[in-house]
Amino acid sequence: MSLLRVEDIKVDYGDIRALWGVSLRVEQGRTVALIGANGAGKTTTLKSICGLLPVSEGRIFYQNQDISGLPVYKVVDLGITLIPEGRQLFPKMTVEENLLVGSYIKRARDKRAKSLARVYELFPRLAERRKQVAETLSGGEQQMLAIGRGLMQDPDLIMFDEPSLGLAPVVVHEVFRTIRELRQMGLTVLIVEQNVHQVLKVADYCYVIERGRVVKEGPGADLEKDPAVREAYLGF
Ligand code: ATP
Repeated sequence: MSLLRVEDIKVDYGDIRALWGVSLRVEQGRTVALIGANGAGKTTTLKSICGLLPVSEGRIFYQNQDISGLPVYKVVDLGITLIPEGRQLFPKMTVEENLLVGSYIKRARDKRAKSLARVYELFPRLAERRKQVAETLSGGEQQMLAIGRGLMQDPDLIMFDEPSLGLAPVVVHEVFRTIRELRQMGLTVLIVEQNVHQVLKVADYCYVIERGRVVKEGPGADLEKDPAVREAYLGF
């Protein structure tokens, strides 16, 4: 059964149509990637799934429930979490305070202590720095904190928007290692990434979006060999 099913969604910013009919499926436990050029509609797709943007047409189903039109807090409470581009941490709050903010939703409240232990196990660096204010962390540590805060919401489906943006290569490597670990923990992952080379290696399945439409899809390993994908996104 697909955990998430996006069916032919069209999304507008005022008079401007950004998505012209995007359909995709994410199976339970899998890692699925969305790739595409700047402005193709990847962020818009993720925001629509989590209720940050209304869909003009089409439907979004999660666990067979129609979630199109639900407010964000209800979507999050069903188990969908977005780790946004730019991380959006609370800069003056400590690592632990930022993490705890994630667990205030109903679904996560009772599991707060367990989730915190899991985050610190996954990211020992955050445990060492639990009293440090977020704005003084390195870029890589801030990305770990953003992921940790998302995990505090106890998601089944975790969505990443450009998690490697602006990070040094060694830190990018760590982000992708973390994504593999989340998959091993049983989480379902939907990821938008400009780092196509790396993302095709972690993704079970991948969708290519161009100008608001899905133009190609297939297993990551197949797309990696596709001449058009290689030329447009891998540069060779
Ligand atoms: P990027 O990788 O650059 O973030 P993207 O694939 O995530 O690109 P989106 O951010 O989803 O692309 O943008 C899709 C289209 O919608 C673009 O043409 C963009 O200019 C437009 N768009 C995005 N946000 C807004 C907004 N708030 N108001 C008007 N148009 C917007």
